[in-house]
Amino acid sequence: MPSSMPEYTLTRKRMKNVRMVVRAGTGEVRVSAPHRMAQRDIDSWVRSKSEWIAAKQAEALARPVPLSPGPAADALRRELRPVVAQLLDEWVPRMGVAYPDWRLRIMHSRWGSCNSSKKSVTFSVELARQPYHLVEYVVVHELAHLLESNHGPGFYALMDRYLPPWREHRSELNSPR
Ligand SMILES: [Zn+2]
Repeated sequence: MPSSMPEYTLTRKRMKNVRMVVRAGTGEVRVSAPHRMAQRDIDSWVRSKSEWIAAKQAEALARPVPLSPGPAADALRRELRPVVAQLLDEWVPRMGVAYPDWRLRIMHSRWGSCNSSKKSVTFSVELARQPYHLVEYVVVHELAHLLESNHGPGFYALMDRYLPPWREHRSELNSPR
């Protein structure tokens, strides 16, 4: 079966071998090739990789672009701040914890964290893209760490008491969208 030519952007470099990357988030194909490699050889090389490219693109598009500091992150921060503030106003008295220092940060592998000795909690800016009940789950989770620093039976008992459906929220939050 003849495969179609995937679109790509080409950069010429001082290098020995042709190389290719598929960008996360966008699926854009970038090829770097040595100055002397003929265009048709590059094309046929790329064409020979079209199945690999298609698989990588599907993977790349399923995963959102990692957030970096800038206007997009600032916009998410502005959106999330009042939501978290309101949730803290509601949950701090309900759980009987001291009102913590809190902040929003770009976090790459977690939704939130808690420093129970400093009584401070941090939330991922990317929670702005999640529905309200999942932001609430993360807020309750981090506040529960002010009472129980580890994920032990005492911690789960708090979660069961304050937010009974938390297990469903956790799997919803951690499943890829
Ligand atoms: Zn935790």
